[in-house]
Amino acid sequence: MIERLRTQGIRDEKVLAAMQQVPRHQFVQEGLAYSAYDDTALPIGFQQTISQPFVVARMIEILRSGRELGRTLEVGAGCGYQAAVLSFVAQEVYAVERIRPLLDRARENLRTMRRPNVRFKHADGNLGLPEAAPFDTIIVAAAATSVPAALKEQLAPGGRLMIPVGTSEQRLVLVERQGAIFRESRLEAVRFVPLLTGTE
Ligand code: SAH
Repeated sequence: MIERLRTQGIRDEKVLAAMQQVPRHQFVQEGLAYSAYDDTALPIGFQQTISQPFVVARMIEILRSGRELGRTLEVGAGCGYQAAVLSFVAQEVYAVERIRPLLDRARENLRTMRRPNVRFKHADGNLGLPEAAPFDTIIVAAAATSVPAALKEQLAPGGRLMIPVGTSEQRLVLVERQGAIFRESRLEAVRFVPLLTGTE
């Protein structure tokens, strides 16, 4: 998988090393373990998916370019795959998920991996995580119709937010905060499950 990520253009060695550390087959349902290292999203139940390895690597690489991730918020932890990858590149990871049984699975997966710097919360990520803000990095794993204001507000000065935006057509949007100024860039086309509201 790592060689394929290189071929696909991932250059950040720290990201590649983190991807190497996380056994993706442990995060997918047993019957799908044989496809765990394919470059596709796979079902994790509750109509949700584990993200595609290339997209995970790409988002983290862009967020890292020229700096460290620092305190990081992940919205949409799912089964915890990306949180596990982030735990190898970020100082601290706060991961929120709105579906309780998925959150429980993410916690269990990370406990098995003994990652000490990841904390999970059952919450609606549209609201961010005010009690742990501000964040140097926010990464959203579900597609929003627009960038939630709370997430921008919870960015530290110099912080970066990456979020897929759109419905049938989605694009990654990078928001960089410089003081009171938010600079937005639209990046590549992607395909994510929708960012929903509330918890269940
Ligand atoms: N990061 C996961 C991807 C999971 S798919 C991985 O590494 O594989 C996206 C997840 O976002 C789903 O589990 C979905 O339940 C969750 N989600 C959607 N809207 C949300 C919201 N408002 N708050 C928190 N989680 C949300």
